[in-house]
Amino acid sequence: MDFDFSPDQLALQTRATEAGLEFRDRARQWDAEDSAPYREINQRMGELGFFGLTMPKEYGGQGKTALDYLIATSAVFRASQTWQPCEPLFCTTGPGPAMILLSDSEELKQKYVPAIVRGEMGCAIALTEPQHGSDLNHLETTATIVGDEIVLNGDKSYVTGAVDNELYAVFARFDGIPGHRGIGAVVVEGDAEGVTLERGPSFVGLRGLAHGNVTLRNARVPLRNLIQGPGSFARLMTAFNLERLHNAAFTLGMAEAAFDEASNYVKQRHAFGRPVIEFQATYHTLAEMWTIIEAHRLLCYRAAATAIDGTFPQGLPVTIAKLFGGTRLPDLTVKALELHGGYGVDLDYPIQRIHRDAISAIVAGGAPAVLRNSIASQLFPDVRFRQERDG
Ligand SMILES: Cc1cc2nc3c(=O)[nH]c(=O)nc-3n(C[C@H](O)[C@H](O)[C@H](O)COP(=O)(O)OP(=O)(O)OC[C@H]3O[C@@H](n4cnc5c(N)ncnc54)[C@H](O)[C@@H]3O)c2cc1C
Repeated sequence: MDFDFSPDQLALQTRATEAGLEFRDRARQWDAEDSAPYREINQRMGELGFFGLTMPKEYGGQGKTALDYLIATSAVFRASQTWQPCEPLFCTTGPGPAMILLSDSEELKQKYVPAIVRGEMGCAIALTEPQHGSDLNHLETTATIVGDEIVLNGDKSYVTGAVDNELYAVFARFDGIPGHRGIGAVVVEGDAEGVTLERGPSFVGLRGLAHGNVTLRNARVPLRNLIQGPGSFARLMTAFNLERLHNAAFTLGMAEAAFDEASNYVKQRHAFGRPVIEFQATYHTLAEMWTIIEAHRLLCYRAAATAIDGTFPQGLPVTIAKLFGGTRLPDLTVKALELHGGYGVDLDYPIQRIHRDAISAIVAGGAPAVLRNSIASQLFPDVRFRQERDG
């Protein structure tokens, strides 16, 4: 077991930190205005070499590993203290592009993956519906194959990057087959007939880019845009594990950012004639925060380092890493905020924004209770709770 980064990984981390620092000063404005210049951010992250990190070289990707992805994204999050600069990494490497890669159709891969890794197209995930987030068993969006087309009808909500992305990996129910067995996924182009993209609601955190709506009204896409038909839910979830790795990288990077802000603040703030860091209560709080961060880091690295083919994180370790980060980060950001005294809730100080981002990430990519269900069912495969109400 080797806990040291290779020289290449160290260089990647340094490069990602420098990239993140380019955006830090603008995080406050993007948050205040709930608007960020996605095209510009995307172009810059591409120039800095962050597109298609784990995508295979044969499609123009960089052929790196899930661990490289984690190293890069967590460093960008820490340095930028905001989530937007990692969105181009997510949309050119994350679950959307990975799902296309897992498709059986070489034609589909050739059609989209090279353009995705060049940053000309980004692929978001459209899974959640207004009435069904965790409960995918009751997904209502329908997909019907008509000749050489798929006709889609339904409403998707909270789609991060809606409006800005060109492609959407849409989860839909095929042929009315009930439960998760009926679910498949299709690549939908944002400007296709019958597709409407809207910005959607404003969130308390993770602001700037939309978490928007994708509305499908007799939207017709070519049959060759089918990623997987019904009966392949488990396979689709293999790609979705990259979403959980991204979430875990976010909570790791933001936990480190909260630690940075708190420790810098208490070094320069004086009370009772001494720097606040010289009070043992402060000292211990920082030690406790760092212990949680170190535990989270190890869970994240393990989830990434044990990825299948080096690329697709396995369900159990990545779910544990996401659960740990999502549920621990808000406590940690509150501690960091408290160390700022009254300045903790002053909009001129980044810690309040980091805290709002932390609470906004608890449920994104899977609610904690659902993650616990998933972990427990893998630990105890013989013990199952029926999620559906009897009768
Ligand atoms: C910042 C952000 C970004 C997002 N980005 C995207 C995106 O890009 N694409 C996308 O498709 N979606 C996205 N989502 C949606 C997200 O995936 C859902 O919000 C999430 O899956 C939870 O679904 P829900 O909001 O419908 O809550 P519900 O499923 O209605 O959950 C409500 C409560 O019930 C609990 N619950 C539900 N089922 C169970 C159960 N079986 N056992 C125990 N408790 C249960 C939950 O834990 C939760 O506490 C995003 C959400 C956020 C906040």
